[in-house]
This record gives sequence, structure tokens and C-alpha cells, in this order.
Amino acid sequence: MDCGSIAQAQHGVSAAILSVGDELMLGQTQDTNAKWLASQFTLRGVVVREFRTVHDDLADIESMFRELSARHDILVITGGLGPTDDDLTREALRRAMDVVEPLEVDEQALADLDRWFKDRGRPMTANNKLQALRPKGARCLKNSWGTAPGLHASIGRARIWCLPGPPREMEPMFETEVAPHLPRAVMATAAVHSFGQGESFLAEILGARMSRQRNPLIGTTASGSIVSARIRAVNEAATDAAMESAMQEVEQLWAPYAFGRDQETLAGALGKLLILRGERVSLAESCTGGLTASFITTQSGSSAWFAGAAVTYANGAKIDVLQVPNELLVAHGAVSAPVALAMARGCAALLKTQWSASITGIAGPSGGSETKPVGEVFIGICGPRFEAVKKFHFPGERAAVRDRAAKTALALLRLALLGEKEFAAPIIWESHK
Ligand code: AMP
Ligand code: MG
Repeated sequence: MDCGSIAQAQHGVSAAILSVGDELMLGQTQDTNAKWLASQFTLRGVVVREFRTVHDDLADIESMFRELSARHDILVITGGLGPTDDDLTREALRRAMDVVEPLEVDEQALADLDRWFKDRGRPMTANNKLQALRPKGARCLKNSWGTAPGLHASIGRARIWCLPGPPREMEPMFETEVAPHLPRAVMATAAVHSFGQGESFLAEILGARMSRQRNPLIGTTASGSIVSARIRAVNEAATDAAMESAMQEVEQLWAPYAFGRDQETLAGALGKLLILRGERVSLAESCTGGLTASFITTQSGSSAWFAGAAVTYANGAKIDVLQVPNELLVAHGAVSAPVALAMARGCAALLKTQWSASITGIAGPSGGSETKPVGEVFIGICGPRFEAVKKFHFPGERAAVRDRAAKTALALLRLALLGEKEFAAPIIWESHK
């Protein structure tokens, strides 16, 4: 499903901000109004697509009104609403609206002005009355914080709000008169997580589905070796059905690496499969020292499918606890495929589980050699009618090697449970040497 650009769909509208005033153009006053307005639009999910600034010049303001109202749905102008000769926004608006009649008095605005001066015991000068003028078809916006009323009008599809220049008048008027009329964006987000391939590889699979013009919009992020597709949809595309179909599409494209959604973890995904089959798993950990078991036991309810782990660091422990034959250790070393397999088998027997994974490797920084470099890890998987070992070369520091090894063990268990074809899918760090 594609509902056009998310930038348009999200906000339903395109907005522009026009600042009017010689003092801005001369560099005497900083345009803080535009910045403030932009932050307010952003807060409400509306993207400002254009900023413009002009002098207190009738022709310039009029042409800006025409230009911006042709391109945008929302136009907010600040400045030029005061009582003096250089306040030209009202007249420029009349011209841009193609209103032939001269500006007319807004009786309510005039009464408000009258009250304002009376309340302060000050006489109202004639030029102050000019502030109560508006083009035919425009509406005055009450200003409780100063004298100049705002103006609201439409030109074509554009809705226009003219607000006073002083920030302490402009800001509350925006909040009471403009903000309530901004479209509300409905947004839905979801994530599909994967493990086993790199972000660029997975992004390439998504191809044009990652186009920034789409809604739902799909982007990728990578964290802790988990690559996630983040799906965001707005307005008409933000339905459960559209989100579900976008997630399924990613899951199919990323199969068998996609393991879960949103808050799901690798261990949780593994647990789900084991519970479905009424089977349990155990772990024989060497270089990960219990990290894999820790990932599993972080998962509440994991006792239903996780029996336990044997952290067998020394050769003696591998022999005594897991019944790894001493001859295998002598012939191949502790970091080897035959030992990994023997560890997994021994662990499944010891803890009486259908499934077991073993992890034996060199986490570094010391302990590496020419033939067995730091990062080399063997992971053995043993299941009902299934046995296999994969060799990896994990890049990074000790912590990264251990983290990747533990997650890979969980991922391999999950893939083995899915089937031999899934287990055969290459993992990015797999070593075939
Ligand atoms: P005006 O409504 O044009 O009479 O503006 C009155 C005063 O508001 C100016 O003298 C400035 O001090 C202030 N002002 C106008 N426009 C801006 C702006 N874009 N950013 C910050 N202050 C402004
Ligand atoms: Mg001004």
C-alpha cells in the first residue's frame, strides 16, 4: 500500500512562515518568531517547507502572499499589523485576496480596541483605529495581549493567519487561534528485528520499499548486531491492516533472519518455538561464560523451556561435567568443531533436554594464535535427529565477540528448530576456512 509521500500524508499539509519587517531585513532584529513557529509546527507534526522574510514593502508582501498561498496549505505571517504607515500586512492581504473593496471596519475589533484603551485610561489615537480594519472576507483575531488584532483569511487552498510581530502577542495568539486548527497526524509505528546479516545487505533486499516517498515508510537501524526495520505510517496508511502487511512483507523478505517484532527478543523467539513443540534447551558455554543463559533467563517464563547451562571454562570441566573425551581435546584443542559437538551432546544428556547449544572460542584479546585467531568461535547444535557445528569469526573486542557468540547461539537454535534449510542460511560472520 502506498499513499503518497509520508511528509505530505503525515501532515496532510504543507506550511510556510513569512516574516515581515525592515528591522529583520536590516539585521537589527533577530527573527525569533520564525524559529518559534517552526518548533510549534514540528511539535504538532506539521513540517514547515518554506521560510521567507520581506521588508515593510506593500508589493513585496503582496507577492509573497500570492506565491506562498499557491504552494502551501498553511501560511503564518508575523509583523506589519501595527497602527503605523509601515504596517502593511492588512492592505497587502486585501490585494492578494483580489478584494476590490477598500479595507472595512470590524466592529468587534474596534470595540475591543476601545475597551483596551479605556481599561488603561488612555485616549485612542486615530491611527490606532486602523488596526480594526480588515479585508472583506477576512476575520479579525482577538488580541488580549496587545492592540493589533490578528487576521485570518483564505487564498485558494491556503489558510492564512496574520499574527502581530511582538513575540509576547504572537505566541499566545498562535496557541489560541492557529494551533487548534492544525491537522492532527495519526501515526503508527512497528519494528521487525533480524539477526545474522548486515544492515546494508538487508536494506538492499528491501530495495525500493525504503523509498522516502512511501507511506508506510520503512527505515533500518542496527544495534547490538540486531538489524531492525522500523515501519512508520501516518493517517490513511496508519491502519492495523496496513501495518500488519508491511511487517509481513519485511518478515518474508528477511526470512529466515527476521525473528520478532517490537519488544520481542532472540531468546523470546526461541522460547516461543520450543513451547510450541513442548521441548527444552540447555547450554554448554565456554567463552561466553553464561552470557547466553543470561539472555535466556532475562526472559520471564523461560523456565518452561530452558533447563540450565553448564559453564565449562577449563578443559577439566568439559571432561568432568560434559563427558567430552580427553582425546578430542588433545587432538583438536578446546576450540574446535569436534569438541563443540561433544559439549552439546554431553550437555543435552546431562540436563536431559531435546536441544542443546555449545559455545567454545577465543574471545581475546589474549589467547589467539596463527591457526586460531581471536574471535574464532565454534557453536554446536544438537537436537532430535539433528546435529551440526558452525565456525565463526566474530570481529571486535572481547565484549563484542562474547555478545555476538551468545546471540548467534540463540539464533542458530532458532534456525535449527525451523528446519535444516533455515539452519543452512549463511550468517554474516560464518567462517568456511
Ligand atoms: P510589527 O508587528 O511589525 O509592528 O512588529 C512589532 C515588533 O515585533 C518589532 O519591532 C519587533 O520588535 C517584533 N518583531 C516583529 N517581527 C519579529 C520577528 N520575526 N521576530 C522577532 N521579533 C519580531
Ligand atoms: Mg513592523
